[in-house]
Amino acid sequence: MQFSSVVGQAAAKQGLINMYRSGHFPHALLLTGNEGTGGLPFALALAQYIFCHAPTDTDSCGQCANCNKVGKLEHADLHLSFPTIPPKSGTKAMSRYYLSDFREFVVQTPYGSTYDWLQFINAENKQGNLTAEECREMIDTLNLKSYEGGKKVQIIWRPEYLGKEGNILLKLIEEPPADTLLILVAEQHEDILPTILSRTQDVRLIPLSAQDIAAALVQRGQADERNAMQIGHLANGSYTEALRLLQHTQNDLFPDVRNWFNALFTNNGIAIAKFAEDWSKAGREQQKNFLHYVVSLLEHAIRSRYLPQQPPALPQEEALFAQKLAAMKISFEVLGQMTEAISKTIYYIERNAHSKTQLHSLSVKLVYMIQGRKQSA
Ligand SMILES: [Zn+2]
Repeated sequence: MQFSSVVGQAAAKQGLINMYRSGHFPHALLLTGNEGTGGLPFALALAQYIFCHAPTDTDSCGQCANCNKVGKLEHADLHLSFPTIPPKSGTKAMSRYYLSDFREFVVQTPYGSTYDWLQFINAENKQGNLTAEECREMIDTLNLKSYEGGKKVQIIWRPEYLGKEGNILLKLIEEPPADTLLILVAEQHEDILPTILSRTQDVRLIPLSAQDIAAALVQRGQADERNAMQIGHLANGSYTEALRLLQHTQNDLFPDVRNWFNALFTNNGIAIAKFAEDWSKAGREQQKNFLHYVVSLLEHAIRSRYLPQQPPALPQEEALFAQKLAAMKISFEVLGQMTEAISKTIYYIERNAHSKTQLHSLSVKLVYMIQGRKQSA
């Protein structure tokens, strides 16, 4: 994987490349970022950069023999440890039993979550683990000479799963064998042993911007520009979440938002009933996405009120819609109430409330709010 395939994270990419080129690279690096910010793809891109025969100032070449091997997770000096389950009863959970599964999983879904991975190996409700045996094998392997005579890289995906067994690795992390780099990829800082934290250099990955997510979806041909932007705004900074949303948001949500708001602003009972009827037939995920999208448009409208000079970072039609909404004489308080009412409806729909009733009563509440009337509970 090249850095160019890692979504966003421009500062962390360039920072680490510069550090590497200047010869001041830490021997144990801890990459921490929420799910979907790209920790594992980032670690693999970094490993590829380190092994590449012809790296540039910004990326590995993507062409050489080593890039090829790292791309398939098959470089002999790239070692991978990740949470697993015992393959059968009476055995220990170890990464080496699952290497070919892991290669397949990562090549197919580099932004897959740990949960996705454990489902991929049919762990079902079993907890994944990084065991004491895994730690000891890591130490033995890294103490051998490198196969190809160059550097060795050990990636540990989710050191949170080490638990106290992580103490076995302290000496390795503090003083790795020559030419050995350790890259730990974590999501929850607070679940890592303090003794490991104190021995690693911390690099944070930030939540992705809606623009970064949208650009990646368009570039990879996974969505058109406006669908990509809608998903970008819904994905909470996570590319994993964006890919999940993509499965539920194939249609353009905007025309329905516009029609619904027209119905609300004109208090058109027939159109409102039709909206509730039509949308009650969509899946719950789709309903939630729709409502989340409306919330994000309302938030843009609120922002536009504060910063009228700055057009919202949205596709043109949505930007106009948010600006129009902002220009209407709806108080901040009412916009806030509308957002809250929609969020509550999302909450009820998540808990399997009858969606047609929910969407209808939400519409009625919004009409009251827009008209500035007092609503009865
Ligand atoms: Zn290369």
